Order: sequence, then C-alpha cells, then structure tokens
Amino acid sequence: MALNLGVIGTGAIGREHIRRCSKVLVGAKVVAVNDINHQSAVDVITSLQLDAQVYDDAHELVKASNVDAILVTSWGPSHEEFVLAAIAAGKPVFCEKPLAVTAAGCKRIVDAEIKHGKRLVQVGFMRPFDRGYRALKEVIDSGEIGEPLMLHCAHRNASVADTYSTDMAIVDTLIHEINVLSWLLDDDYRTVQVVFPRKTSKALAHLRDPQVVLFETHKGTRIDVEVFVNCQYGYDIQCEVVGETGIARLPEPSSVQTRSQARLSTSILTDWKDRFIEAYDIELQAFIHDLAAGELTGPSAWDGYTAAVTSDACILAQKSGQIVPIELPQRPAFYAR
Ligand code: NAP
Repeated sequence: MALNLGVIGTGAIGREHIRRCSKVLVGAKVVAVNDINHQSAVDVITSLQLDAQVYDDAHELVKASNVDAILVTSWGPSHEEFVLAAIAAGKPVFCEKPLAVTAAGCKRIVDAEIKHGKRLVQVGFMRPFDRGYRALKEVIDSGEIGEPLMLHCAHRNASVADTYSTDMAIVDTLIHEINVLSWLLDDDYRTVQVVFPRKTSKALAHLRDPQVVLFETHKGTRIDVEVFVNCQYGYDIQCEVVGETGIARLPEPSSVQTRSQARLSTSILTDWKDRFIEAYDIELQAFIHDLAAGELTGPSAWDGYTAAVTSDACILAQKSGQIVPIELPQRPAFYAR
C-alpha cells in the first residue's frame, strides 16, 4: 500500500521532491501540501495534476488522518517546529537540511525522538546516497588503501547570489561535506580551523572567497576542504582519500569524451541539482522503503545535530582564525552507527 505523504513547503526543493515522489519513485503518493504562500501550494498540485489537499495550517496537515509521513521542505527557521509536531503526532518525517537552525534546536528534536522511543526522523543529507560516495566508502571499508590518513576535498560553485555571505559557505555549502565525510570515515571531528587564501577578484566585497576548512578527526585523520563559490568554471565536488597503502578518489560524474577542434575534452556540470539528482531520488526512495520495512536507516536527527555543532565551531573558527575544538556529547546507543 502506498505511503501517503504530506509536504510542508512548496518552494524550489519542495516542488522537486513532490515531483519525484509523485512521478519517479514507487510506494508513495503526495496527498497533502502546505506553504505559507497558499497559491504556491495550489500551483504545484495543479501543474503536476495531483489529487492532493491544500492545507493553510501546516499543523492541520501534520494531524490529518490520511497523512502517514511528512516532508519538511519549508525554509530552515521553520523546520524545528514542524519536525517536533510530526514527532508529537508519532509520524515519520523527512526534513531537508538544516534539521534546525541552532544546535540547541536540533538537540530538542533528538531528545523528543529518543523520548518517543523509535526513530522517526531522516535529515535530507543526500550525499551518502550518491553512487560515487558509496563506491568510495566501499573502497575505504574494504581496507584496500589502508587506514585513511588525509582527505583533500573541494566544493566549488561557478558563482553565488549577491546575498550569499561568508558564513553561508559553512551553513549552506560545507554542511554537506561535514555530513558526508564523517559518514565516509566513520569518525567524528575533533577540531577545526579556517584559513583564507588570497581573495578572488570575482567575489563581492562582503564575501571572503575562497576559504579552506581544516578538520582533525578523533582518529587523527586530517581533512582539508576548499570552499570556493566563485570559481567561474562550474559546479565541482572533489574528494581524494590518501590511505596508508593507496589513494582513492571520488569518481567524476559520467560525461561523454569528445575529440574536436584539436582538443580532447569532457564537460563539467554547472548546476548542483544535476550533480546530485540521482542521489535525491535514492534518498527519498530509501525513506519510503525503510518506512515500509519498519525502520529508518538514513541520516538521523543525531547527524543533523552533530552537523549543527560542527558548523557552529566552523563559524567560530572563521571569526577567530584559531583552532576550535568540536565538542560533541557521546553518541547515544539509540543512534548507533
Ligand atoms: P525556497 O525556494 O525559498 O522554498 C521554501 C518554501 O517554504 C517557500 O515557498 C516559502 O514560502 C515556504 N515557507 C517559508 N516558511 C514557511 C512556513 N512557516 N510554513 C510553510 N511554508 C513556509 O527554498 P528551497 O531552496 O526550496 O529550500 C528549502 C529548504 O531545503 C532549506 O532549508 C534549504 O536549505 C533546503 N535545501 C536542501 C538542499 C539539499 O541539497 N539537500 C537543496 C536545496 C534546498 P515563501 O517563499 O512565501 O517564504
């Protein structure tokens, strides 16, 4: 039987998730939608020709008897309220990142979920569902390159909106590396430092770009992540793992190789939605599948909380230039890896 979904937030990613749950994935259908902008919710069900009800009150949608699970895709500051409402109703909830805009808010969600006694929350960190990262993790876990010693990573965007600020390089951009690298290494971060190379002339005056984020993990692995959001040439995600006996690299997205005009070339993607489109499909299919199987296994509320604690430390490191400790409580058995 199909899982009936209620979706809160019909902006860019909300519309994408409604489309994929209705037209691409199996085992679910969207029966209810809500957005602070009523017309936006009406438009999405009209354009996709869905038989879904529009709710003007998100809390009524959460409580609706025909809604089995909730997708929260509204803007970040509203996430905590809706995730807590879903937990209070005993309903599973897939929440886009960030789980909450403060670490304290994420912790309230963790506490509510533990009190409920069973996992109800999956956070929309999609990179662990990307085939390239999964293949990289398989190589690391197989022991083929020995223990990972160093990671060299890059997150590059061609350009960003004028409203993009230096701290957004952490909370909007690096947040995906924060999640996926800890998953990849099965390790937690111990310290962080942020250094700023020579600034690109392509960034607006208020934005410090590029920046390099240096992590040390509990096992002692050193990670450098270059965040460069005005690189001009494309959307480019890189990850190289240097192990004791070899090196493993994240595969490039597949692209046709051409020989033309005396050049051998492959193209580079320019849009993050294209880079991870399959990962979004797989993460939501996994959420639907896991609910049918009775147990959520994707990124948890604890992952949302640790990402928030880590990004808070990164912001402090940006401001101070110092090496900042990342202090996390013991992972509860409830969230065992
Ligand atoms: P968006 O286009 O601005 O959409 C957000 C929608 O939520 C808007 O329609 C907004 O309405 C609505 N909204 C705001 N407050 C609400 C409330 N209290 N109740 C119901 N609806 C409300 O933003 P987006 O790009 O879709 O991003 C949404 C979330 O997804 C963000 O947290 C973002 O970080 C996350 N995201 C994740 C990824 C990823 O890679 N995992 C990618 C993109 C976005 P108004 O426009 O009228 O305010």
